[in-house]
Amino acid sequence: MAVLTEDALINIRRDLHQIPELALHEVQTSAYLEKIIAGFDQTHLQVKKIADLPTALLVRVEGSSPKRTVGYRTDIDALPVTEETGLPFASKHPGVMHACGHDIHMTVALGVLSYFAEHQPADNMIFFFQPAEESENGGKLAYELGVFKDQWRPDEFYGLHDNPDLPAGAIGCRMGTLFAGTTEVNIDLEGKGGHAAYPQDANDMVVAAAELINQVQTIISRSIDPIEGGVITLGKLEAGTIRNVIAGHAHIEGTIRGLTQVMIKRIDQRLQDVGEGVARSFNAKVTVALNQGGYLPVENNPELTKRFINYMKDNPDVHFVETEPAMTGEDFGYLLSKIPGTMFWLGVEDDSQLHSATLNPKESAIEAGVNAITGLLTNRMAG
Ligand SMILES: [Zn+2]
Ligand SMILES: [Zn+2]
Repeated sequence: MAVLTEDALINIRRDLHQIPELALHEVQTSAYLEKIIAGFDQTHLQVKKIADLPTALLVRVEGSSPKRTVGYRTDIDALPVTEETGLPFASKHPGVMHACGHDIHMTVALGVLSYFAEHQPADNMIFFFQPAEESENGGKLAYELGVFKDQWRPDEFYGLHDNPDLPAGAIGCRMGTLFAGTTEVNIDLEGKGGHAAYPQDANDMVVAAAELINQVQTIISRSIDPIEGGVITLGKLEAGTIRNVIAGHAHIEGTIRGLTQVMIKRIDQRLQDVGEGVARSFNAKVTVALNQGGYLPVENNPELTKRFINYMKDNPDVHFVETEPAMTGEDFGYLLSKIPGTMFWLGVEDDSQLHSATLNPKESAIEAGVNAITGLLTNRMAG
């Protein structure tokens, strides 16, 4: 169904894979995408750039008898990972790799766009090539810049993420939350340093931090519904300077994951409680700072997602898998909190996990993904 042949799609993917760029620096990637899009039939296309988000790219396809505007989003950024796949088309940018498979996402989006450039859709469509998914909140940045206004506003939004745990080309989805929400937490404990031999004159923040870290472990096990689950990981701890000086300060950094905004608020509250308790019992000053700049949960719209799942289940060419929520974050959650839509998985079958230096998605997933999505959107626009 795709206008770009499977070989052409794979070549595009390999080109993109060799030029990975970090969030907000996707200059070569964006230029490459523009070049490929310029090769499509331009009759119904309109390309838009954003001055304040120069690596972003929007493409509008004019519908033949529009009832709505359907949005499709792909992220375009890569990760600070040194590639270890040994592939002939490995990253040419030292220390940077498409280790999250966004090269696959972009290629699928180009395949779908190429189809609708040649076969005018019934509805209007917006393709959003989004910078900065891995950090910097590119989706939110674009939204706040007013990019999705007037004829550039989708009424509904779709987007995918590749998934090494699913068979190549399979489509995965679920009602409710697909990706958890994430919030960053920073904790500072302030006491009094002193000589290692005179603990009675000091207020040891290594001991206070240890106590706090242990108490935090009870939040998920004792305060959160076990069916729903949640995660708190404290991944960084700094305290003290040398073995024979009592530390007067400790600093902890971590991340919180939850399936709904309500759950994340509950975890936030319990962290504050634990912080206050430790402050009191150690006569210390404890600040628990939650950075709200994390990612909102990706909460799928019930009506659109039901339609999506039914279409995929009924399509004999699609291997559909009902999936569990992922505890990783995705910044598409922000756009889906503003515009209803559905996020889903595309299976790429690999032993390596996302963000790993050896991730090697199966390329047969690309054409299967293009066909499934083209079919879905055509069906949607006929309704
Ligand atoms: Zn990622
Ligand atoms: Zn990703």
